[in-house]
Amino acid sequence: MSEPILSIRNSVKAYGPVTALDQVDLDVREGEFLTLLGPSGSGKTTLLTAIAGFSPLTRGTIRLRSRDITHEPPEHRGFGMVFQGYALFPTMTVRQNVAFPLKVRKRPAAEIAARVEECLGLVQMQAFADRMTTQLSGGQQQRVALARALSFSPQILLLDEPLSALDKKLRADLQWELKALHERLGVTFIYVTHDQDEALSMSDRIVILKDGRIQQQGTPDELYNRPRTRFVADFLGKSNFIEVELLGRDGPCIACRAGGAVFTVAAGADAPIRGAGSVALRPERIRLAAPGVEAMQGTIRQVSYLGERCQVMVAHPVLGQMLISQPTWQSAVEPHPGTEVSFGWSPEAGVLLAAG
Ligand code: ADP
Ligand code: MG
Repeated sequence: MSEPILSIRNSVKAYGPVTALDQVDLDVREGEFLTLLGPSGSGKTTLLTAIAGFSPLTRGTIRLRSRDITHEPPEHRGFGMVFQGYALFPTMTVRQNVAFPLKVRKRPAAEIAARVEECLGLVQMQAFADRMTTQLSGGQQQRVALARALSFSPQILLLDEPLSALDKKLRADLQWELKALHERLGVTFIYVTHDQDEALSMSDRIVILKDGRIQQQGTPDELYNRPRTRFVADFLGKSNFIEVELLGRDGPCIACRAGGAVFTVAAGADAPIRGAGSVALRPERIRLAAPGVEAMQGTIRQVSYLGERCQVMVAHPVLGQMLISQPTWQSAVEPHPGTEVSFGWSPEAGVLLAAG
């Protein structure tokens, strides 16, 4: 793997008694779309502002390639920023806003004019160049903020929940645009969100934070399909959790028992193979069928129709309430509350979680 563009080591940030970052180590690869994901208060903004240089670390180091930038002021780091509290200048036009970082850097006027046009083109805002930013919609303002952050060709772009104030449909559109922009420019993106779907759909890699610590990092696929802890399995999408007794290895899987039911689960090489365990099972990995077809028998308690999908809550005497999600168009049974059904899953569908 090539040398990381940014390396953070042993970073700690304390606000009085509150430890907002607790021994965070993070490498950011050149050109990647990296997302910091976590619930409110998990330390995402603290980490991003430490990278930006707005809020110095209590301990630890930050390196930009081979350069130690831990104590450098923000303007020397030269990162582009789209932050919530870093609003557009209301007394300037769109064009003046985007030109601002270039003026500060004392670039020649002709170069500024050309670069501003180019950046407004990137975010499809050329037609609005002479408007005041107060006359723009929320989505348009975010586009201008993005153009301003990109105008001086930063090597790293830092974005703190840039789409969170927008309505759902517009947010989805801008997610596609941001992703396309990232691919086109090849700039390293460090993106903060508390929105799981946003993180899954946009990122090359996701870092999950909780209480100032990294819980797990990996590609969206790794985190979704192989969560290590209950927190990650629960935070990223929905999961059923089953408390089991581990019975030992069964090929690449581990056999386990919950009440009278015996099944196998996927497990890493370092997973325990005896004792008590906890298994996460995604609702969409469970098959629903007519009574007797699958291994487990249960009764439908609740049905929730979501258009393309249908979510069904099935009560099982040992496993408890199981959430099952099925594409509406391939429903094997008509799901109605009170209906007896069977359900099951393939041997590697469940994931054995680490203790704790
Ligand atoms: P997130 O962006 O994930 O919601 P933050 O990084 O803003 O979380 O906050 C992490 C923790 O640090 C929280 O407990 C928050 O209350 C605390 N915190 C953040 N900024 C300050 C500050 N300026 N003074 C005191 N505590 C702060
Ligand atoms: Mg925040």
